[in-house]
Amino acid sequence: MALTEKLNPFAMAQAQLDEAAEHLALDPATHEFLRWPMRELHVTLPVKMDDGMTRIFHGFRIQYNDARGPTKGGIRFHFEETADTVRALAAWMTWKCAVVDIPLGGGKGGVICDPREFSQGELERLSRAYVRQVGRILGLEKDVPAPDVYTTPQIMAWMMDEYSFMHEQNEFGVITGKPIPLGGSAGRGDATARGGMYCIREAAQVLGLDTHGMTMAIQGFGNAGQFAARLGRELLGVTVVAVSDSRGAVYDPTGLNPYKLADHKLKTGSLEGYAGEHERISNEELLELEVDILVPAALEGVITAENAPRVKARIVAELANGPTTPEADRVLHENGAYMIPDFLCNAGGVTVSYFEMVQNSYQYYWPEETVHERLDEKMTRAFHAVHDVANDHQVHNRLAAYMVAVARVAEAVQLRGWV
Ligand code: NAD
Repeated sequence: MALTEKLNPFAMAQAQLDEAAEHLALDPATHEFLRWPMRELHVTLPVKMDDGMTRIFHGFRIQYNDARGPTKGGIRFHFEETADTVRALAAWMTWKCAVVDIPLGGGKGGVICDPREFSQGELERLSRAYVRQVGRILGLEKDVPAPDVYTTPQIMAWMMDEYSFMHEQNEFGVITGKPIPLGGSAGRGDATARGGMYCIREAAQVLGLDTHGMTMAIQGFGNAGQFAARLGRELLGVTVVAVSDSRGAVYDPTGLNPYKLADHKLKTGSLEGYAGEHERISNEELLELEVDILVPAALEGVITAENAPRVKARIVAELANGPTTPEADRVLHENGAYMIPDFLCNAGGVTVSYFEMVQNSYQYYWPEETVHERLDEKMTRAFHAVHDVANDHQVHNRLAAYMVAVARVAEAVQLRGWV
């Protein structure tokens, strides 16, 4: 299938796999097997609302592939959720866990709803209703969810609690991203951005560059973007010159203060009105700034065939999922940008989620420095595995990341004798 700009997400995930399978010369049966989720559960959830009415919601849990271990992936509460979106995200989780070489497969879940309309009580009843249905396919050795869009550590706590009641014992390890008093891991909060910074450090090293004094622009100033701004400065010595949220960007070529920006965003809910001699620019302009490092950390599909020729960054580190379209990928590659693809760059989150599962299993918790050290080791190893394949096969980094991940999953499928 040709890669075009307007595919549905699952068709896009399949097309990406097809390209990797071709480069790996994967046998047809293994290839076809890896194009599809192994299991899907579609559920219908009646939930009592505060006004006394009962509303009916629809949800999914999709286990894409568990050849390398129990499936892992977040639960999204989103009004535009579709089965195909969840299938695509579950596929990408499979490749993400494989590329960082953690012993997990990929899965994803979702409920079609707008949680911003709900009271806390309604949110809790929906969360528990979801687990009562999908709980039959969850478990530490089966499938372990986590937070995702519009789901929080509190929601994970309710879900873990409901599952524990169903199984008549504490089951902390059935879900990750929990609050720390209920078995959450130290270091989970900034893990996604931290993993991305380790990748940027390694990218600079293979390019023969020093990150100190490099400039960085970050699109998105939520969990991933805010920590990227802080850690970029603390770990890499970069100067953050632009950050944005949905209402636009703040730009100062001499450097912005990530801590003050975060305070302002926390107090006012936006970057608008941030004091100082700072220029306001649009989100589109931010992507095209003359910077060394560009970090898309907000939405999918923001770097397209149209604007990619104007992206000037030497390193593009995708903390967001799917910010670059397939056509844009080729343009960036041809223009010499060093791309750190999403499922490698943002794999720090799932890696620390895996550490959370491990700590829950033996009920002994690591200090934050241990989490950082082990995350660094995993990310650095994954980065070089991808970089080496890109060099050896003369392919761009996203395809190389797919090749590493797909080869590992295919090997597990074949060793199990499934194909
Ligand atoms: P978040 O909701 O905390 O933050 C998103 C940010 O993007 C907000 O600041 C929002 O204002 C901004 N935004 C929204 N629309 C925008 C627009 N049009 N232009 C610029 N900014 C816009 O989300 P997050 O957890 O930081 O996730 C961001 C991305 O990173 C997503 O693609 C997510 O899938 C990916 N990701 C996050 C994690 C994680 O652990 N948080 C892990 C893996 C991947």
